[in-house]
Amino acid sequence: MSALDPVRLVLDWGPRLRLSVFDVGLACCAVEFVAASMSGQVPHAGGPGDADVLVISGTVTDKLAPAVRRLYDAMPEPRYVISMGSCANSGGPYWDSYSVTKGVDQLIPVDVYVPGCPPRPEALLHGLQQLASRVTQPAAVRPVTGSAPLVGPPGGVRGPQDLRP
Ligand code: SF4
Repeated sequence: MSALDPVRLVLDWGPRLRLSVFDVGLACCAVEFVAASMSGQVPHAGGPGDADVLVISGTVTDKLAPAVRRLYDAMPEPRYVISMGSCANSGGPYWDSYSVTKGVDQLIPVDVYVPGCPPRPEALLHGLQQLASRVTQPAAVRPVTGSAPLVGPPGGVRGPQDLRP
């Protein structure tokens, strides 16, 4: 059994839905995104205009916030967002920095939060699987942009758990 077989096993559960993904890699979490991509289980979009899912992997700063918002605005509906890692979820280790956005959900609606600093690649793949499962259940899908997330922050509220590896 190869090292990636458990990952494939997870992704083989549930409905088969190919969601094309565009990664906004802003810091170290982007390396974990690349590691997840090596599984061959992450269909890549050529750009935000082709993407179903925007993954925000890394630290969002207030300076970068307008660019992140523009990428989201370039996506066609229906569109989904995965916030990957503590920084994107809440600011992470830099939550008290004057320049760091305290969660990408202050800019765009987030459907799935992947906890960790950094999350393991399997955690992102699990988040993608969660999203794929939810979007095939029409009642669970956000009717319009800006509604409640499909999978909330770990523990329901933000706190020290966001900083745990
Ligand atoms: S959550 Fe941790 S690993 Fe991810 S970008 Fe922030 S500091 Fe880096």
